[in-house]
Amino acid sequence: MPAQLETNERHKRMVLKALLWTTLAGGIFFGILNLFHGIWVLSALEGIYACFSVALLRIVERTPHLRFWTLVYLLPFFCVMMIALLLAKTSYTIFAWIQTIPIICYLLLGLRTGSRVAIVFITLGLLAFNYRFTGENHLLNLSIMSNVVLASLAMVLFSHIYERSRMDNERRLMELASTDSLTGLANRMKLTEVFKREHAHAQRNTAPLALIFIDIDHFKLINDQYGHEAGDQALQHLAQVLGERLRTTDLLCRLGGEEFAVLLPNTAPAQAIEVAENLRQRLEDSPLRLGEKCVAMSLSAGVANLGYDGTSLDDLLRTADRRTYAAKRNGRNQVVSVDEPSADAQSA
Ligand code: GH3
Ligand code: MG
Ligand code: MG
Repeated sequence: MPAQLETNERHKRMVLKALLWTTLAGGIFFGILNLFHGIWVLSALEGIYACFSVALLRIVERTPHLRFWTLVYLLPFFCVMMIALLLAKTSYTIFAWIQTIPIICYLLLGLRTGSRVAIVFITLGLLAFNYRFTGENHLLNLSIMSNVVLASLAMVLFSHIYERSRMDNERRLMELASTDSLTGLANRMKLTEVFKREHAHAQRNTAPLALIFIDIDHFKLINDQYGHEAGDQALQHLAQVLGERLRTTDLLCRLGGEEFAVLLPNTAPAQAIEVAENLRQRLEDSPLRLGEKCVAMSLSAGVANLGYDGTSLDDLLRTADRRTYAAKRNGRNQVVSVDEPSADAQSA
């Protein structure tokens, strides 16, 4: 789970725990108060709900199914509030508790489930309120109902707008955090995240997974001869040229500087070499245009395969990086897919 989502889950857990403590304290306090008022049914229900909150507090501490337990909390909470609202001796201020439900729903259940649950609960709450507090004075009734309906609508609307913009901001932040700002490609964080998913998929389906490490040849020369801005354009150019060749399931990312990686799911070693060779050829055939000038570009690449060259992303990156440097040593503008025999092995 990405860090941002983990933080959200932690916040939701904290909110639910705070609510459970509030319900526990409220249940005990109002349970005793209603006992003195002789409202036995409500007093008993509040006592039971206080005990239920204690049990939920233990579950919420560690459950991975937070959404489910939020609903388990909300449903009885709402039922107790509805019963309290409908009982003859209670005060109509109980409706204030029902008005907190939209906020809780949106905060803990998100936009879709939250809006549905909030609208159902608040509508039923308003019907119960209307049934319970219809008096003789029609004008006063109208004024009370209008206040309650409008305030409830405002609660739902504000919670909806808040949650929607929070989700949009979260999505934008997640995009920014996983994108390289110069090329628009995925960054290393995104590669780590996608690798985790693809690695699990490859293991489940005994499917191949390959990685290509790419380093631009003599990139420093472009910077030195045409300036840093031209260097930036060269990086963008490479991103575009290589991106056009890849499948939507492949992930091209910028690791940093002039180093890139391509993750190729469902790609056998021989196919991965073919893809790397194809990328190399495409860049060679697509010089960078800087106004009138054409600047030739080339890359050196190393290929590594899951299972053959290791089991983790670090293993694959290390191996593919080593092979890229072998490609550099051999004269650049080429792909290396196996390790060169070491000096010791050669002399033996
Ligand atoms: P080789 O063929 O051995 O890979 O040589 P090279 O010149 O490509 O490699 P070297 O590592 O010596 O140079 C990399 C250069 O990339 C150095 C650094 O200034 C430049 N660089 C790193 N990041 C950026 C960037 O974001 N924009 C620009 N314009 N240059 C960058
Ligand atoms: Mg480099
Ligand atoms: Mg380089």
